[in-house]
Amino acid sequence: MTATDTHCPYCALQCGMTLTPQVPGVKLEPRDFPVNKGGLCAKGFTAADLLDHRDRLLTPLVRKGNGLREATWDEALDRIVEAITHSQSRYGRDSVGAFGGGGLTNEKAYALGKFVRVSLKSASIDYNGRFCMSSAATAANRSLGVDRGLPFPLEDVAQAKTVLLVGANPADAMPPSMQYLDAGRENGARHIVVDPRRTNTAAGAHLHLQPLPGTDLALANGLLHIAVREGYVDEDYVRERTTGFEAVRTATNSYWPERVERMTGVPETRLRETVRLLATQGPAMILTARGAEQHSNGTDTAQAYLNLALALGLVGKPFSGYGTITGQGNGQGGREHGQKADQLPGYRKLDDPAARAHVAEVWGIDPDELPGPGQSAYEMLDQLGEKVRVLMVLASNIAVSAPNSNRVLRKLKDLDFLVVSDIFLSETAELADVVLPTAQWAEEEGTMTNLEGRVIRRKRALPPPPDVRTDLEVLAELSRRLGREESSDPRTVFEELRRASAGGIADYAGITYERIEAEDGVFWPCPAEDHPGTPRLFADGFPTPSGKARMIPVVHRDPAEMPDRQFPYVLTTGRNMQQYQSGNQTRRVKALTVALPEPRAELHPDLARRHGIADGDLVELRSRRGAAVLRARLSDGIRPDTVFAPFHWPGANALTNPALDPHSRMPAFKACAVAISCLKDG
Ligand code: SF4
Repeated sequence: MTATDTHCPYCALQCGMTLTPQVPGVKLEPRDFPVNKGGLCAKGFTAADLLDHRDRLLTPLVRKGNGLREATWDEALDRIVEAITHSQSRYGRDSVGAFGGGGLTNEKAYALGKFVRVSLKSASIDYNGRFCMSSAATAANRSLGVDRGLPFPLEDVAQAKTVLLVGANPADAMPPSMQYLDAGRENGARHIVVDPRRTNTAAGAHLHLQPLPGTDLALANGLLHIAVREGYVDEDYVRERTTGFEAVRTATNSYWPERVERMTGVPETRLRETVRLLATQGPAMILTARGAEQHSNGTDTAQAYLNLALALGLVGKPFSGYGTITGQGNGQGGREHGQKADQLPGYRKLDDPAARAHVAEVWGIDPDELPGPGQSAYEMLDQLGEKVRVLMVLASNIAVSAPNSNRVLRKLKDLDFLVVSDIFLSETAELADVVLPTAQWAEEEGTMTNLEGRVIRRKRALPPPPDVRTDLEVLAELSRRLGREESSDPRTVFEELRRASAGGIADYAGITYERIEAEDGVFWPCPAEDHPGTPRLFADGFPTPSGKARMIPVVHRDPAEMPDRQFPYVLTTGRNMQQYQSGNQTRRVKALTVALPEPRAELHPDLARRHGIADGDLVELRSRRGAAVLRARLSDGIRPDTVFAPFHWPGANALTNPALDPHSRMPAFKACAVAISCLKDG
């Protein structure tokens, strides 16, 4: 049996592992790859369970009345093509759309964007990364001229002497990454965690700041205010490497510490200590994640932390800077290659004439044939059955993961035709007219781009089951039936992706499968095969027109929904260590469900006492949009005005607010108003 070096199917760390087929099953062993250095979390260790899982989809399914029945590929594909042609002839090209995912390989993300814009000639495409990274990406693009989650290798984190983690919980989300924080701490580094809960990450930190969800921007502006007043601003850096500081300084004038303490609940002494550490115990870095970004002001919140990092002169210096911790397996690559509503491969803008001309030439079409930007993820879902009438969903379980999920479920049912490609019958697939069984991570070739911007190879360790196809094969076959030939070979698609991305922000032109293999991954931008790749960005300037980073003034806005008498608490959602995303895969892994059989609503004992709730009671959470029943877990590590619910099961997103950030179109997952009551009979 041949051993194959590959990577974990789940999160953006993309830990290295080795798979060896055996009888029965597959042996999975951790591998000494630069990011995980031999470590794996429980999800990674148990990932081989997915490969021969009894729930695996092994043949296409088509709708028959209220159920689904087995079908041949020909019948399933015929039905899809018939639905596409009928809808487009009756309602126009944009009536057929696709919803992609940040778990798709680079090749698939690229092929899906091309399929929609060239074979379908439709503008209707977006993906679940809109619900994940879009706020930080928008802020980084407009401020630094480029969005690469971490603009430095993860190993730099171990060298930083102060790390401010905002809304990030790597101890639960990606445990092997903690070795870098732990190494830093052993060398005297101080870590400050901003989170309304005392997470496992916060528990080990030097300082834990517990702001009210939705006030992270005010906190950042308050920190910058203190930095200005106490003379910590790096004036030389600001003058030489940034623009816009005066406007930012003016915007933070009114964020005096006493006011910020009132707004956020974080004591002034902790604010001052945070600034002192960031400014005087360097090198220092600021890392944000979804807790800060998934808000109706998420872009401005990420910008506020960028402003702070720039004012302190952190960005572009060794073991220092600003970064955002990408979550999904290919959250980074998934947003670079054209499955986003407004983007073309190479992180090019779809409304940029030069970008359109370049990509159209690679695709062999006239630039005028390319559709314009489409709608963002939630906006598209909100109009299913109206503007979009046929939807193809790949690698996404929107029935569970989209905000305001009750409405999204209704809208999915309003569609004329729903196609879902997946490895399991997800909650979304259950609603489909056609379900396509697709190959999974260890059964196909492809590349992923991890949270550091390191392009890595996922390799095929075993063949897919006989009647299962890869997403690339499905897209190529649908294209052929619609009149256009496309390759289904990952290597051929990657070669085309290299040409399409050449000269763009995310330039893969110099990256080959062989180099990835030989060099343990290659960091973009890498414009030529003799270019070493770029592990660290910004050492010599920023890819903005002026070469300087833009500081942009931002001010606090209350969350789109505030607590009131009817809904007196703030709900915030997040992750558990044992689960990944909507749980479509990890909820089927026995060892993970034994460790955590059900979701728990975390609440403070004071709040619980007010409502007669004991640990383990079933509670009902209600928002203006829906209700969810969960078992209570009491913890004095959460704010007494806040309730936490994990999003890996159906329920939490029935409550969440789809109010969108005006810049990134990110929904407000991390703060909405809820009421709670105890279901004693549970
Ligand atoms: Fe997989 Fe992420 Fe766990 Fe690593 S940290 S084993 S990539 S889920």
